[in-house]
Amino acid sequence: MPRHLFILTIFLVALSACGRNSASSSPSETGSPAPAKPQLEALATTSMLADIAQHVAGKRAHIESILPVGADPHSYQHTPQDVAKVTSSKLLIVNGAGYERFLNALLENAGGEMEIVTASAGLASGLEAGDPHFWLDPNNVIVYVENIREGLTHLDPAGAAEFKSNADAYVAEVQALDAWIVEQVKQIPAGRKLLITNHESLGYFAKRFGFTVVGSALESFSSDASPSAQQMATLIDEIKASNAPAIFLDAGDNPILAEQIADETGVRVVADLHLESLTDGPPASTYIDMMKYNVMQIVDALK
Ligand SMILES: [Zn+2]
Repeated sequence: MPRHLFILTIFLVALSACGRNSASSSPSETGSPAPAKPQLEALATTSMLADIAQHVAGKRAHIESILPVGADPHSYQHTPQDVAKVTSSKLLIVNGAGYERFLNALLENAGGEMEIVTASAGLASGLEAGDPHFWLDPNNVIVYVENIREGLTHLDPAGAAEFKSNADAYVAEVQALDAWIVEQVKQIPAGRKLLITNHESLGYFAKRFGFTVVGSALESFSSDASPSAQQMATLIDEIKASNAPAIFLDAGDNPILAEQIADETGVRVVADLHLESLTDGPPASTYIDMMKYNVMQIVDALK
C-alpha cells in the first residue's frame, strides 16, 4: 500500500444528503420520508467492505461499493464514473495490504480531498507474505469494524455513540458467525481438512479453522491468469498427489480451468465460492451470508 494514500487531507465536516440508490441493505432506505439528519456519502472499494461499513454507519451514512457485485478486485479497471464518485467522496474505505491494485490509478485520476480508512490496518500478515484476504477469518473483520468506526467518527463526531453502538452489535454478529463456523467444520474428519484454491485466498480461513492449504501449483495462478499446458500438467499431478477431496474456486474464476481439473483428476470441483464479492440477493448478499454460504459448500464437499 503506497504511503501517499495516508497523507490525504482529512475533512471533518461537510455531510451531504444521500441521493444515490444502492443495493445495500441500509436500514435507512425503507421508503419512509427523508431522515432529519444529513447523511454522509462514503465509498468502499468492495461489496464486502461496503456491507461491513454500512452496518457500522447505520442511518448516519450511506456506503456505496466502487466495485459492482461480481467484479474481481484483482483485475478491476476503474471507470470514469468511479473517478467522479471518488472525487466527490469524503471517505473512502479500502481493504489495503495491496488488495486493490486498481486504486493507485483511480486516486491519481480523482481530485478532491478525502479521508482514506484502511480496514486491515493493524493486521499483520502472519501467513504468506502480503495475503490481503483478511476478511475470510471473521476475527479480522472485528478489526475492520474498529478501523471503520474510527474513520466514521472522525468525519462525523456527533455520531460517535451511534457508531459505537452499531459496531458493538455487528461485532456480536461476527463473533456468532465465528462460533458457528467452528461448529460446522467439526463435521469434517481431521484428515480431510485440506483446501486447494486457485490462489492464496483461504490462508486466514485455514489458519483459524484448522485447515491445511495444499496444492502450491494452483496458488501460483491469480484469478486473472491462466496456466500454460505444462503448468496445467503439473497442476493435475499435484492435485492427484495431494489426496485433497475437493478443489475450491471462486465464482469469478476461470471456469475452463475448473472444468479441465474436474475432467482430468476426478476430484470434486466446487467452482462457485464467493470469496471476493457479494452477490445480488442470495446466497451471499451480506458478508455474514457470504461466509456461511462458503462454509456450507466447503463442509459439504469435505465431510
Ligand atoms: Zn483474491
